[in-house]
Amino acid sequence: MGNFLEEIIESDIKSGKTPNIITRFPPEPNGYLHIGHAKSICLNYGLAKKYGGKFNLRFDDTNPVKEDDEFVASIVADVKWLGADGEVLFASDYFDTMYECAVKLIKKGLAYVDDVTAEQMREMRGTLTEKGKESKRRNRPVDENIKLFEDMKNGKVADGELVLRAKIDMASPNMNMRDPIIYRVLKAHHHRQKDKWNIYPMYDFAHPIEDAVEGITHSICTLEFEDHRPLYDWVLDNCWDGARPHQYEFARLGVERTIMSKRYLKKLVDEKFVDGWDDPRMPTLAGLRRRGYTPSSIREFCERIGVAKANSEVETGQLESCIREELNATAARAMAVLEPLELEITNRDADFAETLEFSYNLGEQEKTREVSFSGSLYIEKDDFSLDPPPKYKRLTLGGTVRLKSAYIIRCTGCDKDENGNPVKVYAEIIEGTKSGQDNSGVKVKGVIHWVNKKDCVNITARLYDYLLDDDKTGRDFSERLNKDSLQVCAAKGERILETAAKGDNFQFLRQGYFVRDIKSDGAVFNRIVGLKDGFKR
Ligand code: ATP
Ligand code: MG
Repeated sequence: MGNFLEEIIESDIKSGKTPNIITRFPPEPNGYLHIGHAKSICLNYGLAKKYGGKFNLRFDDTNPVKEDDEFVASIVADVKWLGADGEVLFASDYFDTMYECAVKLIKKGLAYVDDVTAEQMREMRGTLTEKGKESKRRNRPVDENIKLFEDMKNGKVADGELVLRAKIDMASPNMNMRDPIIYRVLKAHHHRQKDKWNIYPMYDFAHPIEDAVEGITHSICTLEFEDHRPLYDWVLDNCWDGARPHQYEFARLGVERTIMSKRYLKKLVDEKFVDGWDDPRMPTLAGLRRRGYTPSSIREFCERIGVAKANSEVETGQLESCIREELNATAARAMAVLEPLELEITNRDADFAETLEFSYNLGEQEKTREVSFSGSLYIEKDDFSLDPPPKYKRLTLGGTVRLKSAYIIRCTGCDKDENGNPVKVYAEIIEGTKSGQDNSGVKVKGVIHWVNKKDCVNITARLYDYLLDDDKTGRDFSERLNKDSLQVCAAKGERILETAAKGDNFQFLRQGYFVRDIKSDGAVFNRIVGLKDGFKR
Protein backbone atom coordinates (compact mmCIF):
# COMPACT_ATOMS: atom_id res chain seq x y z
CA MET A 1 0.00 0.00 0.00
CA GLY A 2 1.26 3.48 -0.81
CA ASN A 3 1.46 6.48 1.48
CA PHE A 4 -1.60 8.60 2.20
CA LEU A 5 -0.82 10.99 -0.66
CA GLU A 6 -0.63 8.14 -3.13
CA GLU A 7 -3.97 6.91 -1.91
CA ILE A 8 -5.51 10.35 -2.43
CA ILE A 9 -4.01 10.72 -5.89
CA GLU A 10 -5.01 7.23 -6.98
CA SER A 11 -8.55 7.88 -5.90
CA ASP A 12 -8.60 11.27 -7.68
CA ILE A 13 -7.35 9.67 -10.87
CA LYS A 14 -9.84 6.84 -10.62
CA SER A 15 -12.79 9.13 -10.04
CA GLY A 16 -11.73 11.32 -12.96
CA LYS A 17 -11.31 14.35 -10.72
CA THR A 18 -7.66 14.86 -11.74
CA PRO A 19 -6.77 12.54 -14.60
CA ASN A 20 -3.44 14.35 -15.07
CA ILE A 21 -1.74 15.30 -11.88
CA ILE A 22 0.58 18.29 -11.55
CA THR A 23 2.74 18.83 -8.48
CA ARG A 24 5.26 21.49 -7.62
CA PHE A 25 8.18 22.32 -5.39
CA PRO A 26 7.91 25.98 -4.39
CA PRO A 27 11.12 27.24 -2.77
CA GLU A 28 11.69 30.81 -1.78
CA PRO A 29 15.04 31.80 -3.34
CA ASN A 30 16.45 33.08 -0.06
CA GLY A 31 19.09 30.44 0.60
CA TYR A 32 20.43 27.09 -0.55
CA LEU A 33 18.33 23.95 -0.40
CA HIS A 34 18.77 21.52 2.47
CA ILE A 35 17.97 17.85 3.04
CA GLY A 36 14.43 18.79 4.19
CA HIS A 37 13.80 20.35 0.80
CA ALA A 38 15.15 17.18 -0.81
CA LYS A 39 12.35 15.30 0.93
CA SER A 40 9.79 17.64 -0.59
CA ILE A 41 11.39 17.52 -4.05
CA CYS A 42 11.59 13.72 -4.09
CA LEU A 43 8.01 13.47 -2.89
CA ASN A 44 6.53 15.90 -5.40
CA TYR A 45 8.66 14.78 -8.31
CA GLY A 46 8.19 11.14 -7.39
CA LEU A 47 4.40 11.43 -7.37
CA ALA A 48 4.30 13.22 -10.71
CA LYS A 49 6.56 10.61 -12.23
CA LYS A 50 4.71 7.66 -10.75
CA TYR A 51 1.34 8.83 -12.02
CA GLY A 52 2.51 10.14 -15.39
CA GLY A 53 1.99 13.76 -14.41
CA LYS A 54 4.01 16.95 -14.45
CA PHE A 55 6.34 18.52 -11.90
CA ASN A 56 7.07 22.23 -11.67
CA LEU A 57 9.98 23.90 -9.93
CA ARG A 58 8.35 27.17 -9.04
CA PHE A 59 10.16 29.93 -7.25
CA ASP A 60 8.01 31.55 -4.64
CA ASP A 61 9.73 34.86 -5.19
CA THR A 62 7.18 37.14 -3.59
CA ASN A 63 9.46 38.64 -0.94
CA PRO A 64 11.99 40.78 -2.82
CA VAL A 65 14.04 41.75 0.20
CA LYS A 66 15.70 38.41 0.82
CA GLU A 67 15.79 37.01 -2.67
CA ASP A 68 18.73 36.71 -4.92
CA ASP A 69 19.68 35.27 -8.32
CA GLU A 70 22.58 33.37 -6.73
CA PHE A 71 20.00 31.38 -4.78
CA VAL A 72 17.85 30.82 -7.87
CA ALA A 73 20.83 29.39 -9.75
CA SER A 74 21.89 27.16 -6.87
CA ILE A 75 18.36 25.83 -6.39
CA VAL A 76 17.93 25.04 -10.10
CA ALA A 77 21.27 23.20 -10.05
CA ASP A 78 20.47 21.30 -6.87
CA VAL A 79 17.04 20.14 -8.04
CA LYS A 80 18.54 18.98 -11.31
CA TRP A 81 21.37 17.22 -9.50
CA LEU A 82 18.82 15.33 -7.42
CA GLY A 83 17.36 14.09 -10.67
CA ALA A 84 14.07 15.95 -10.55
CA ASP A 85 13.31 17.26 -13.97
CA GLY A 86 10.77 20.04 -13.98
CA GLU A 87 9.69 23.23 -15.66
CA VAL A 88 11.25 26.25 -13.96
CA LEU A 89 8.66 28.90 -13.18
CA PHE A 90 8.48 32.08 -11.13
CA ALA A 91 5.60 33.23 -8.97
CA SER A 92 6.59 36.81 -9.76
CA ASP A 93 5.48 36.20 -13.34
CA TYR A 94 1.93 36.00 -11.99
CA PHE A 95 1.99 39.33 -10.15
CA ASP A 96 -0.47 40.82 -12.66
CA THR A 97 -2.90 37.96 -12.13
CA MET A 98 -2.57 38.30 -8.38
CA TYR A 99 -3.24 42.00 -8.64
CA GLU A 100 -6.37 41.32 -10.69
CA CYS A 101 -7.52 38.78 -8.12
CA ALA A 102 -7.12 41.36 -5.38
CA VAL A 103 -9.15 43.88 -7.34
CA LYS A 104 -11.80 41.23 -7.83
CA LEU A 105 -11.99 40.68 -4.09
CA ILE A 106 -12.31 44.42 -3.47
CA LYS A 107 -15.13 44.64 -6.02
CA LYS A 108 -16.91 41.78 -4.31
CA GLY A 109 -16.61 43.63 -1.02
CA LEU A 110 -14.21 40.97 0.23
CA ALA A 111 -11.10 43.09 0.71
CA TYR A 112 -10.36 46.52 2.11
CA VAL A 113 -7.51 48.94 2.49
CA ASP A 114 -6.54 49.48 6.09
CA ASP A 115 -4.19 51.93 7.78
CA VAL A 116 -3.58 50.13 11.05
CA THR A 117 0.01 49.82 12.19
CA ALA A 118 1.51 46.38 12.64
CA GLU A 119 1.26 46.85 16.38
CA GLN A 120 -2.40 47.88 16.31
CA MET A 121 -3.14 44.99 14.08
CA ARG A 122 -1.58 42.58 16.55
CA GLU A 123 -3.60 44.06 19.39
CA MET A 124 -6.86 43.95 17.46
CA ARG A 125 -6.34 40.41 16.29
CA GLY A 126 -7.57 38.94 19.56
CA THR A 127 -6.41 35.64 20.98
CA LEU A 128 -7.44 32.02 20.70
CA THR A 129 -10.06 32.61 23.40
CA GLU A 130 -10.94 36.18 22.50
CA LYS A 131 -12.49 37.51 19.32
CA GLY A 132 -10.60 40.09 17.28
CA LYS A 133 -11.74 43.69 16.87
CA GLU A 134 -12.93 44.93 13.52
CA SER A 135 -10.99 47.76 11.98
CA LYS A 136 -12.72 51.12 11.44
CA ARG A 137 -11.81 50.79 7.76
CA ARG A 138 -13.49 47.43 7.37
CA ASN A 139 -16.54 48.88 5.72
CA ARG A 140 -14.78 51.39 3.53
CA PRO A 141 -16.71 51.75 0.24
CA VAL A 142 -15.51 49.72 -2.75
CA ASP A 143 -14.60 52.78 -4.85
CA GLU A 144 -12.42 54.16 -2.14
CA ASN A 145 -10.69 50.80 -1.72
CA ILE A 146 -10.05 50.58 -5.46
CA LYS A 147 -8.59 54.07 -5.52
CA LEU A 148 -6.35 53.50 -2.48
CA PHE A 149 -5.17 50.12 -3.73
CA GLU A 150 -4.21 51.79 -7.02
CA ASP A 151 -2.33 54.45 -5.10
CA MET A 152 -0.49 51.71 -3.26
CA LYS A 153 0.39 50.09 -6.55
CA ASN A 154 1.46 53.34 -8.14
CA GLY A 155 3.96 54.20 -5.45
CA LYS A 156 1.93 56.99 -3.89
CA VAL A 157 1.93 55.35 -0.49
CA ALA A 158 4.92 54.90 1.81
CA ASP A 159 6.06 51.47 2.98
CA GLY A 160 3.90 50.21 5.81
CA GLU A 161 1.37 53.04 5.58
CA LEU A 162 -1.47 51.02 4.05
CA VAL A 163 -2.26 47.35 3.62
CA LEU A 164 -4.91 45.41 1.75
CA ARG A 165 -6.77 42.98 3.98
CA ALA A 166 -9.15 40.18 3.14
CA LYS A 167 -12.54 40.71 4.75
CA ILE A 168 -13.30 37.36 6.29
CA ASP A 169 -14.17 37.01 9.95
CA MET A 170 -12.60 38.72 12.96
CA ALA A 171 -14.35 36.23 15.21
CA SER A 172 -13.07 33.11 13.44
CA PRO A 173 -11.58 30.51 15.76
CA ASN A 174 -8.84 30.22 13.11
CA MET A 175 -6.59 33.22 13.60
CA ASN A 176 -5.47 33.04 9.97
CA MET A 177 -9.02 33.94 8.93
CA ARG A 178 -9.15 37.16 10.97
CA ASP A 179 -8.88 39.55 8.06
CA PRO A 180 -5.33 38.64 7.04
CA ILE A 181 -3.17 41.08 5.10
CA ILE A 182 -3.00 40.09 1.45
CA TYR A 183 -0.92 42.94 0.03
CA ARG A 184 1.63 45.27 1.54
CA VAL A 185 3.46 48.31 0.26
CA LEU A 186 7.13 47.62 -0.26
CA LYS A 187 9.27 49.78 -2.49
CA ALA A 188 11.90 47.19 -3.06
CA HIS A 189 13.87 46.07 -6.07
CA HIS A 190 12.76 42.63 -7.19
CA HIS A 191 15.33 40.24 -8.68
CA ARG A 192 13.18 39.71 -11.77
CA GLN A 193 10.48 42.36 -11.80
CA LYS A 194 13.05 45.07 -11.03
CA ASP A 195 11.19 48.23 -9.90
CA LYS A 196 7.83 47.48 -11.49
CA TRP A 197 6.00 46.85 -8.24
CA ASN A 198 5.48 48.91 -5.14
CA ILE A 199 3.22 46.31 -3.59
CA TYR A 200 3.85 42.65 -2.90
CA PRO A 201 1.35 39.90 -2.13
CA MET A 202 1.51 37.91 1.10
CA TYR A 203 2.26 34.21 0.98
CA ASP A 204 -1.21 32.98 1.97
CA PHE A 205 -2.82 34.97 -0.80
CA ALA A 206 -0.18 34.41 -3.45
CA HIS A 207 0.37 30.70 -3.02
CA PRO A 208 -3.10 29.39 -3.95
CA ILE A 209 -3.12 31.66 -7.00
CA GLU A 210 0.33 30.44 -8.09
CA ASP A 211 -0.90 26.87 -7.80
CA ALA A 212 -4.12 27.64 -9.68
CA VAL A 213 -2.36 29.46 -12.52
CA GLU A 214 -0.16 26.42 -13.11
CA GLY A 215 -3.02 23.96 -12.87
CA ILE A 216 -1.47 22.25 -9.87
CA THR A 217 -3.77 19.46 -8.76
CA HIS A 218 -2.14 18.42 -5.49
CA SER A 219 -0.42 21.18 -3.59
CA ILE A 220 1.70 19.41 -1.02
CA CYS A 221 3.17 21.33 1.87
CA THR A 222 4.35 20.78 5.42
CA LEU A 223 2.11 20.44 8.46
CA GLU A 224 2.48 23.97 9.75
CA PHE A 225 0.28 25.09 6.85
CA GLU A 226 -2.64 22.95 7.94
CA ASP A 227 -4.26 25.93 9.70
CA HIS A 228 -3.74 27.99 6.57
CA ARG A 229 -5.73 25.63 4.39
CA PRO A 230 -9.09 27.37 5.04
CA LEU A 231 -7.52 30.60 3.83
CA TYR A 232 -6.03 28.83 0.80
CA ASP A 233 -9.52 27.61 -0.05
CA TRP A 234 -11.14 30.96 0.71
CA VAL A 235 -8.84 32.75 -1.75
CA LEU A 236 -9.65 30.29 -4.53
CA ASP A 237 -13.37 30.22 -3.70
CA ASN A 238 -13.51 33.96 -4.13
CA CYS A 239 -11.19 34.78 -6.94
CA TRP A 240 -10.65 31.71 -9.07
CA ASP A 241 -13.08 30.20 -11.55
CA GLY A 242 -10.98 27.55 -13.23
CA ALA A 243 -9.80 24.14 -12.08
CA ARG A 244 -8.91 24.08 -8.40
CA PRO A 245 -5.78 22.86 -6.66
CA HIS A 246 -6.07 21.23 -3.25
CA GLN A 247 -3.63 21.50 -0.40
CA TYR A 248 -2.37 18.45 1.50
CA GLU A 249 0.04 18.48 4.37
CA PHE A 250 2.76 16.05 5.43
CA ALA A 251 5.31 16.07 8.25
CA ARG A 252 8.44 18.11 7.70
CA LEU A 253 11.68 16.22 7.86
CA GLY A 254 13.86 16.86 10.88
CA VAL A 255 17.28 15.29 11.35
CA GLU A 256 18.92 15.04 14.77
CA ARG A 257 21.58 17.62 15.59
CA THR A 258 20.91 19.37 12.30
CA ILE A 259 19.73 22.90 11.65
CA MET A 260 17.07 22.86 9.01
CA SER A 261 16.16 26.42 8.37
CA LYS A 262 17.60 28.56 5.63
CA ARG A 263 17.61 31.55 7.94
CA TYR A 264 19.88 29.81 10.43
CA LEU A 265 22.00 28.20 7.76
CA LYS A 266 22.51 31.64 6.26
CA LYS A 267 23.66 32.87 9.64
CA LEU A 268 26.22 30.08 9.84
CA VAL A 269 27.53 31.15 6.46
CA ASP A 270 27.40 34.92 7.04
CA GLU A 271 29.07 34.69 10.43
CA LYS A 272 31.68 32.30 9.02
CA PHE A 273 30.97 29.41 11.37
CA VAL A 274 31.35 27.31 8.26
CA ASP A 275 33.19 27.65 4.99
CA GLY A 276 30.24 28.64 2.80
CA TRP A 277 26.91 27.06 1.88
CA ASP A 278 28.69 24.04 0.48
CA ASP A 279 30.80 23.30 3.56
CA PRO A 280 30.71 19.49 3.79
CA ARG A 281 29.29 19.73 7.33
CA MET A 282 26.24 21.65 6.13
CA PRO A 283 22.93 19.82 5.62
CA THR A 284 22.53 21.70 2.35
CA LEU A 285 22.43 19.72 -0.86
CA ALA A 286 25.54 21.62 -1.94
CA GLY A 287 27.23 20.57 1.30
CA LEU A 288 26.11 16.96 1.02
CA ARG A 289 27.31 16.84 -2.58
CA ARG A 290 30.72 18.15 -1.53
CA ARG A 291 30.74 15.70 1.35
CA GLY A 292 30.42 12.96 -1.22
CA TYR A 293 26.74 12.05 -1.06
CA THR A 294 25.29 10.92 -4.36
CA PRO A 295 21.83 11.90 -5.65
CA SER A 296 20.76 8.26 -5.54
CA SER A 297 21.70 7.92 -1.87
CA ILE A 298 19.63 10.98 -0.98
CA ARG A 299 16.68 9.73 -3.01
CA GLU A 300 16.96 6.39 -1.26
CA PHE A 301 16.95 8.13 2.12
CA CYS A 302 13.83 10.12 1.24
CA GLU A 303 12.16 6.93 0.09
CA ARG A 304 13.06 5.02 3.25
CA ILE A 305 11.89 7.63 5.72
CA GLY A 306 8.52 7.66 4.03
CA VAL A 307 5.74 10.21 4.26
CA ALA A 308 4.35 10.82 7.70
CA LYS A 309 1.52 12.84 9.17
CA ALA A 310 3.31 13.58 12.44
CA ASN A 311 6.58 15.49 12.84
CA SER A 312 9.55 13.57 14.11
CA GLU A 313 13.33 13.54 13.96
CA VAL A 314 15.27 11.06 11.92
CA GLU A 315 18.66 9.81 13.07
CA THR A 316 21.63 10.92 11.01
CA GLY A 317 22.57 7.24 10.89
CA GLN A 318 19.67 6.62 8.51
CA LEU A 319 21.07 9.04 5.98
CA GLU A 320 24.54 7.60 6.47
CA SER A 321 23.39 4.02 5.91
CA CYS A 322 22.06 4.97 2.50
CA ILE A 323 25.39 6.30 1.24
CA ARG A 324 27.37 3.59 3.02
CA GLU A 325 25.38 0.79 1.42
CA GLU A 326 25.73 2.36 -1.99
CA LEU A 327 29.46 2.97 -1.69
CA ASN A 328 30.08 -0.48 -0.29
CA ALA A 329 28.98 -1.78 -3.65
CA THR A 330 30.60 0.87 -5.84
CA ALA A 331 33.61 2.59 -4.25
CA ALA A 332 37.13 1.56 -5.23
CA ARG A 333 39.26 0.36 -2.31
CA ALA A 334 42.54 1.99 -1.47
CA MET A 335 44.93 2.28 1.44
CA ALA A 336 45.68 5.55 3.19
CA VAL A 337 47.22 6.18 6.55
CA LEU A 338 45.63 9.13 8.29
CA GLU A 339 48.11 9.53 11.12
CA PRO A 340 51.35 8.07 9.79
CA LEU A 341 53.87 6.20 11.91
CA GLU A 342 57.00 4.91 10.19
CA LEU A 343 57.62 1.19 10.15
CA GLU A 344 60.89 -0.35 8.98
CA ILE A 345 61.27 -3.98 8.01
CA THR A 346 64.55 -5.21 9.50
CA ASN A 347 65.05 -8.53 7.76
CA ARG A 348 65.18 -7.27 4.16
CA ASP A 349 67.75 -5.27 2.18
CA ALA A 350 67.46 -1.50 1.98
CA ASP A 351 66.42 -1.68 -1.70
CA PHE A 352 63.86 -4.43 -1.21
CA ALA A 353 60.81 -3.83 -3.38
CA GLU A 354 57.94 -6.06 -4.36
CA THR A 355 54.63 -5.87 -6.14
CA LEU A 356 51.78 -7.53 -4.33
CA GLU A 357 48.21 -8.42 -5.23
CA PHE A 358 45.99 -6.16 -3.19
CA SER A 359 42.79 -8.05 -2.63
CA TYR A 360 39.51 -6.50 -1.69
CA ASN A 361 35.83 -7.12 -1.99
CA LEU A 362 33.89 -4.65 -4.01
CA GLY A 363 30.38 -5.34 -2.86
CA GLU A 364 30.22 -9.11 -3.07
CA GLN A 365 32.85 -9.32 -5.77
CA GLU A 366 36.39 -10.54 -5.06
CA LYS A 367 38.86 -8.25 -6.83
CA THR A 368 42.58 -7.61 -6.87
CA ARG A 369 44.98 -5.01 -8.16
CA GLU A 370 48.70 -4.45 -7.78
CA VAL A 371 50.25 -2.53 -4.96
CA SER A 372 53.93 -1.80 -4.30
CA PHE A 373 55.61 -2.91 -1.11
CA SER A 374 59.04 -2.18 0.39
CA GLY A 375 60.95 -2.28 3.65
CA SER A 376 59.88 1.29 4.50
CA LEU A 377 56.24 1.70 5.30
CA TYR A 378 53.76 3.86 7.13
CA ILE A 379 51.18 2.40 9.44
CA GLU A 380 48.46 4.11 11.42
CA LYS A 381 49.67 5.63 14.69
CA ASP A 382 46.95 3.93 16.69
CA ASP A 383 47.66 0.54 15.12
CA PHE A 384 50.72 0.33 17.37
CA SER A 385 50.61 0.42 21.13
CA LEU A 386 53.32 0.33 23.79
CA ASP A 387 50.70 -0.18 26.42
CA PRO A 388 47.94 -2.15 24.74
CA PRO A 389 44.51 -2.24 26.37
CA PRO A 390 42.94 -5.68 26.86
CA LYS A 391 41.82 -7.33 23.62
CA TYR A 392 44.01 -5.04 21.50
CA LYS A 393 44.38 -6.88 18.21
CA ARG A 394 46.96 -4.72 16.47
CA LEU A 395 50.72 -4.33 16.75
CA THR A 396 52.54 -4.34 20.11
CA LEU A 397 56.19 -4.71 21.11
CA GLY A 398 57.05 -8.32 20.31
CA GLY A 399 53.57 -8.88 18.92
CA THR A 400 52.44 -9.96 15.46
CA VAL A 401 49.93 -8.63 12.97
CA ARG A 402 49.21 -9.08 9.29
CA LEU A 403 49.88 -6.22 6.92
CA LYS A 404 46.91 -6.21 4.58
CA SER A 405 47.57 -8.20 1.37
CA ALA A 406 51.25 -8.56 2.42
CA TYR A 407 53.01 -10.41 5.22
CA ILE A 408 52.68 -11.20 8.87
CA ILE A 409 55.22 -9.14 10.78
CA ARG A 410 56.62 -9.30 14.30
CA CYS A 411 57.54 -6.08 16.03
CA THR A 412 61.14 -6.02 17.19
CA GLY A 413 61.39 -2.56 18.72
CA CYS A 414 60.66 1.13 18.37
CA ASP A 415 62.20 4.61 18.65
CA LYS A 416 60.54 7.07 20.98
CA ASP A 417 60.54 10.84 21.25
CA GLU A 418 61.41 12.71 24.45
CA ASN A 419 57.88 12.17 25.72
CA GLY A 420 58.08 8.44 25.26
CA ASN A 421 55.78 8.37 22.22
CA PRO A 422 56.74 5.98 19.41
CA VAL A 423 58.13 7.72 16.33
CA LYS A 424 59.33 4.68 14.41
CA VAL A 425 58.57 1.00 14.66
CA TYR A 426 60.84 -1.90 13.64
CA ALA A 427 59.50 -5.26 12.58
CA GLU A 428 60.56 -8.40 10.76
CA ILE A 429 58.65 -10.31 8.15
CA ILE A 430 57.75 -13.83 9.25
CA GLU A 431 58.86 -15.98 6.33
CA GLY A 432 56.29 -17.94 4.40
CA THR A 433 53.36 -15.71 5.35
CA LYS A 434 52.81 -13.85 2.09
CA SER A 435 49.08 -13.29 1.56
CA GLY A 436 47.55 -15.82 -0.79
CA GLN A 437 50.56 -18.14 -0.45
CA ASP A 438 50.63 -18.57 3.31
CA ASN A 439 50.82 -22.12 4.56
CA SER A 440 52.94 -21.26 7.60
CA GLY A 441 50.17 -21.93 10.06
CA VAL A 442 51.06 -18.68 11.90
CA LYS A 443 47.92 -17.15 13.40
CA VAL A 444 47.37 -13.44 14.00
CA LYS A 445 44.52 -11.58 15.65
CA GLY A 446 44.60 -8.49 13.50
CA VAL A 447 45.12 -7.12 10.00
CA ILE A 448 46.25 -3.53 9.56
CA HIS A 449 46.57 -1.29 6.52
CA TRP A 450 49.76 0.45 5.44
CA VAL A 451 51.28 2.47 2.63
CA ASN A 452 54.68 2.13 1.00
CA LYS A 453 56.80 5.06 2.16
CA LYS A 454 58.83 4.83 -1.06
CA ASP A 455 55.79 5.03 -3.31
CA CYS A 456 53.11 7.13 -1.67
CA VAL A 457 51.63 10.59 -1.92
CA ASN A 458 50.80 13.23 0.63
CA ILE A 459 47.10 13.71 0.95
CA THR A 460 44.93 15.81 3.17
CA ALA A 461 42.11 13.94 4.83
CA ARG A 462 39.26 15.88 6.36
CA LEU A 463 37.21 14.11 8.98
CA TYR A 464 33.88 15.53 10.00
CA ASP A 465 31.72 15.33 13.04
CA TYR A 466 28.30 16.82 13.77
CA LEU A 467 28.11 20.57 13.45
CA LEU A 468 26.10 20.78 16.66
CA ASP A 469 26.65 19.45 20.16
CA ASP A 470 24.19 16.89 21.37
CA ASP A 471 21.84 19.01 23.41
CA LYS A 472 18.16 18.91 23.87
CA THR A 473 17.87 21.81 26.29
CA GLY A 474 16.96 24.21 23.54
CA ARG A 475 20.07 26.38 23.62
CA ASP A 476 20.47 28.58 20.57
CA PHE A 477 22.45 26.87 17.82
CA SER A 478 25.27 29.41 18.08
CA GLU A 479 25.98 28.12 21.58
CA ARG A 480 25.75 24.53 20.43
CA LEU A 481 28.40 24.57 17.72
CA ASN A 482 30.70 21.59 18.01
CA LYS A 483 34.26 22.94 18.05
CA ASP A 484 35.62 19.60 16.90
CA SER A 485 33.43 19.19 13.86
CA LEU A 486 36.42 19.28 11.52
CA GLN A 487 39.70 17.41 11.88
CA VAL A 488 42.35 17.80 9.22
CA CYS A 489 44.97 15.06 8.83
CA ALA A 490 48.24 15.22 6.94
CA ALA A 491 47.87 11.70 5.60
CA LYS A 492 49.78 9.38 3.28
CA GLY A 493 48.05 7.51 0.53
CA GLU A 494 48.70 5.06 -2.26
CA ARG A 495 49.93 6.68 -5.43
CA ILE A 496 46.67 5.94 -7.29
CA LEU A 497 45.02 8.61 -5.16
CA GLU A 498 47.07 11.28 -6.83
CA THR A 499 45.33 10.81 -10.15
CA ALA A 500 41.82 10.50 -8.77
CA ALA A 501 39.41 12.96 -10.34
CA LYS A 502 37.51 15.45 -8.25
CA GLY A 503 34.40 13.73 -6.96
CA ASP A 504 35.88 10.20 -7.21
CA ASN A 505 35.10 8.17 -4.14
CA PHE A 506 37.05 5.45 -2.37
CA GLN A 507 36.87 3.22 0.58
CA PHE A 508 40.04 3.83 2.55
CA LEU A 509 40.48 0.48 4.22
CA ARG A 510 39.40 0.53 7.86
CA GLN A 511 38.86 4.32 7.76
CA GLY A 512 35.66 4.85 5.88
CA TYR A 513 34.48 6.25 2.57
CA PHE A 514 36.17 9.32 1.17
CA VAL A 515 35.63 11.57 -1.80
CA ARG A 516 38.20 13.71 -3.54
CA ASP A 517 37.06 17.23 -2.78
CA ILE A 518 35.35 18.84 -5.75
CA LYS A 519 36.64 22.30 -4.94
CA SER A 520 40.26 21.93 -3.84
CA ASP A 521 43.02 21.48 -6.39
CA GLY A 522 45.26 19.48 -4.07
CA ALA A 523 44.78 15.85 -3.08
CA VAL A 524 42.14 16.64 -0.48
CA PHE A 525 39.80 13.87 0.57
CA ASN A 526 36.63 14.37 2.61
CA ARG A 527 35.39 11.55 4.74
CA ILE A 528 31.82 10.91 3.65
CA VAL A 529 31.00 8.40 6.33
CA GLY A 530 32.70 5.82 8.52
CA LEU A 531 32.53 2.12 7.81
CA LYS A 532 30.11 1.27 10.56
CA ASP A 533 27.13 2.90 12.12
CA GLY A 534 28.11 4.86 15.19
CA PHE A 535 31.72 4.98 14.01
CA LYS A 536 33.26 8.37 14.69
CA ARG A 537 32.24 10.55 11.83
P1 ATP B 1 13.29 26.94 5.61
O1 ATP B 1 12.66 27.13 6.94
O2 ATP B 1 14.40 25.99 5.60
O3 ATP B 1 13.63 28.22 4.95
P2 ATP B 1 10.98 26.95 4.13
O4 ATP B 1 9.79 26.12 4.26
O5 ATP B 1 10.86 28.36 4.55
O6 ATP B 1 12.19 26.24 4.78
P3 ATP B 1 10.75 27.17 1.37
O7 ATP B 1 11.72 27.62 0.36
O8 ATP B 1 9.55 28.00 1.60
O9 ATP B 1 11.54 26.98 2.68
O10 ATP B 1 10.35 25.66 1.12
C1 ATP B 1 10.01 25.13 -0.11
C2 ATP B 1 9.27 23.85 0.11
O11 ATP B 1 10.07 22.94 0.85
C3 ATP B 1 8.00 24.05 0.90
O12 ATP B 1 6.96 23.38 0.23
C4 ATP B 1 8.28 23.44 2.23
O13 ATP B 1 7.14 22.90 2.79
C5 ATP B 1 9.31 22.37 1.88
N1 ATP B 1 10.18 22.11 3.02
C6 ATP B 1 10.96 22.98 3.67
N2 ATP B 1 11.59 22.41 4.70
C7 ATP B 1 11.19 21.11 4.72
C8 ATP B 1 11.47 19.98 5.55
N3 ATP B 1 12.30 20.08 6.59
N4 ATP B 1 10.88 18.81 5.26
C9 ATP B 1 10.07 18.70 4.21
N5 ATP B 1 9.75 19.70 3.39
C10 ATP B 1 10.29 20.91 3.63
MG1 MG C 1 9.48 29.62 3.70
